[in-house]
Amino acid sequence: MSFVPTLDTDNNSSKALRYIEDVYAQLVARNPQEPEFHQAVKEILASLLPILAAEPKYQNQAILERLVEPERMITFRVPWTDDTGKIRVNRGYRVQFNSAIGPYKGGLRFHPSVNASIIKFLGFEQIFKNALTGQHIGGGKGGADFDPKGKSEGEIMRFAQSFMTELQNFIGPDQDVPAGDIGVGAREIGYLFGQYKRIRGGYPAGVLTGKGILYGGSQARTEATGYGTVYFVSEMLKAKGLSVNGSRVVISGSGNVAIYAMQKAAQLGAKVVACSDSAGYVYDENGIQMDTVRRLKEVERKRISEYVKEHPQATYFPSSSQIWTIPCDIALPCATQNEIDEKMARTLIANGVKAVGEGANMPSTLEAIHLFQQAGILFAPAKAANAGGVAVSALEMAQNSMRLSWSFNEVDAKLQEIMGSIYRQSVDAAQQYGQPGNLLAGANIAGFKMVADAMLAEGVV
Ligand code: NDP
Repeated sequence: MSFVPTLDTDNNSSKALRYIEDVYAQLVARNPQEPEFHQAVKEILASLLPILAAEPKYQNQAILERLVEPERMITFRVPWTDDTGKIRVNRGYRVQFNSAIGPYKGGLRFHPSVNASIIKFLGFEQIFKNALTGQHIGGGKGGADFDPKGKSEGEIMRFAQSFMTELQNFIGPDQDVPAGDIGVGAREIGYLFGQYKRIRGGYPAGVLTGKGILYGGSQARTEATGYGTVYFVSEMLKAKGLSVNGSRVVISGSGNVAIYAMQKAAQLGAKVVACSDSAGYVYDENGIQMDTVRRLKEVERKRISEYVKEHPQATYFPSSSQIWTIPCDIALPCATQNEIDEKMARTLIANGVKAVGEGANMPSTLEAIHLFQQAGILFAPAKAANAGGVAVSALEMAQNSMRLSWSFNEVDAKLQEIMGSIYRQSVDAAQQYGQPGNLLAGANIAGFKMVADAMLAEGVV
């Protein structure tokens, strides 16, 4: 993927191209050693040439320069005591990237790989994803380089409490509303919410989303990202006369997004033949038994390798990255960033994949995306396809402020409507700006336009 214009070489396009190249060069110079952040910005900038050429106001008002600079980046110490009495120290982050259209909103990730680059790439993507949902939420993201694996319940709780003791200074229901992400599920949100409430008082339900149903959570939030990804892919297939029904699906990961993508794909008549965790993948030609995966990962917190003990016809392979060698019609990467590289993209294409739907954030490298596009594979980009989670988070905020609870079916129906709308916005923007059928370009342009226009309206702030 390059910034080089393909169709239009007029003066405005050349100017816009120079603008994009300058902004990107400055970004790399000012943020060295942040490769994931560079990658996320590059992916968006590469799509924006047609709109920047058509609308010079964005360049005149330095919209890109402002967009790529977070409004605020907070880092903090998170000290906690492990079960042996040893004091440990992690680093916490919150990036409050852009609040042009609403309070900052975005998940918290607890994983040893977390650093400023990862948090900034996620926060930057979140700005456009949140705009696409049609809800009034800005972009943010946070987390810590804490590894929840192998930690006791007590250690997880003490870590979450220490993390929130500092984070609470910067968040609030109208200011910044975190949720879960890798390593932060219902259990962690519970501990984080408990500590926020204890420090701040009252019952500030709207400060976090992904809460348990008993204390202010929304029905269908747990399912929303995985379901939403499959709803989006389903729309994309339908437009080509194809269907999820009867397809063969491979899904990476076995966490929150993967489990409910698996469930929805199976409900729509697909056979999911493989899933993974960070240590390896399981292949089950009879169809992965989602209930087993759910119990192993959500309740017992075991490795996916345990699956084959209960389903001896299945096979376990101790290398998660090789999951994409299993032939499939639909590939749903739902684990982590850059899990499909050029080599895996070539393998998927050679094996006849028809559609790729990104449940995870930035799971395909730029080179992999380029190969999918060149080969005419239907490609559902993360910021559109996995926006269902944050969309239902916004519905959770709405329910909290209205003090009411919608039923599962009501929320699920709203989720389907939102995913359909994101699909149509992406198609329309791609068409309008000369890249018909390119959902990546369409999603990037549609999200950008909403945020950029709000920034123009609000002046230089
Ligand atoms: P979870 O922590 O619930 O699950 C993550 C899954 O991915 C686990 O199976 C984990 O394996 C696996 N995984 C993590 N790191 C790696 C790695 N380096 N290589 C291979 N597998 C790995 O997280 P979520 O399901 O919530 O998040 C998954 C992705 O979806 C992330 O990219 C996240 O940003 C994105 N996302 C999540 C949303 C949500 O609502 N939760 C919303 C939108 C996007 P193991 O069990 O071994 O750790």
